[in-house]
Amino acid sequence: MNQITLGDVTVTRVEEMHGPLGMTPEQFLPGSPERDWQEQRDMLVPDHLGADDNIVHVAFQSWALRSEGRIILVDTAIGNDKPRPAVPAWDHLSLGYLDNLAAAGIRPEDVDLVINTHLHVDHVGWNTRLADGQWVPTFPNATYLMPRLDFEYWNPAHNPNIAGGTNENAFEDSVQPVYAAGQVQLWEDEHAVDGNLRLIAAPGHTPGNSVILLGSGSDRALFAGDLMHTPLQVAHPDHSSCFCEDPAAANKTRRELLGWAADNNALLLPAHFSGHSALEIAHRNDSFEIKGWGAFPRY
Ligand SMILES: [Zn+2]
Repeated sequence: MNQITLGDVTVTRVEEMHGPLGMTPEQFLPGSPERDWQEQRDMLVPDHLGADDNIVHVAFQSWALRSEGRIILVDTAIGNDKPRPAVPAWDHLSLGYLDNLAAAGIRPEDVDLVINTHLHVDHVGWNTRLADGQWVPTFPNATYLMPRLDFEYWNPAHNPNIAGGTNENAFEDSVQPVYAAGQVQLWEDEHAVDGNLRLIAAPGHTPGNSVILLGSGSDRALFAGDLMHTPLQVAHPDHSSCFCEDPAAANKTRRELLGWAADNNALLLPAHFSGHSALEIAHRNDSFEIKGWGAFPRY
């Protein structure tokens, strides 16, 4: 069962894909010493690190939330049919994401709100789909919440470095068409989604990067987006990924929010963890340790 309940909120895991990312630990978290990975190896293999090939494993997925009568989709993975010249493994995908969403009882027209925690290519993909050669919003009735800072930063008109990089084409095919359709709502600093959910800025991974705090009844959760990329970062929160724009800021934000999760017994739901995908953590010395994994079945 890919579904759990937190207070009055139902959380469903919707998979796009999972498996090896094609990067070694050193490529994935630059500067992370091999001894850190060795020390955590038993916890990481096989869900988060290949047993034989030393390749990092991740998942691409959305969290579908039912809260106060609305259906809310958190992050929209890589998407189908998208031209991704810099990342051959993501180029022109044809995956059953919408079938997985349907299996969760959700049709595209049922989605009320899409939250892009940030505007990286692997978090905006299903914002749009290809219809008669045009990119159209996949979720015709949804408002799409996007961080204003990322909306400005990832616009290629403002940022010539995007050409040739991982995020090439993503703004044009997955952000701009939704904006043109009048479905984008920009926010900054903090945004109350409803009585259970609150978006807050979590800068570092990208300038506008954000996370969602859940508080419902006595339950707490942190939809962490790309605050972290591998469970290794629980014990080693000062290692950032190669995809983090400002690693020092990302490290600081990671420590603060992991501290909040530990203090509040919050379930942590990052965007890219394979295996059980969610976890609980506790303080340990100057960093953190894993208390247990969430109730989702292992991929
Ligand atoms: Zn990501």
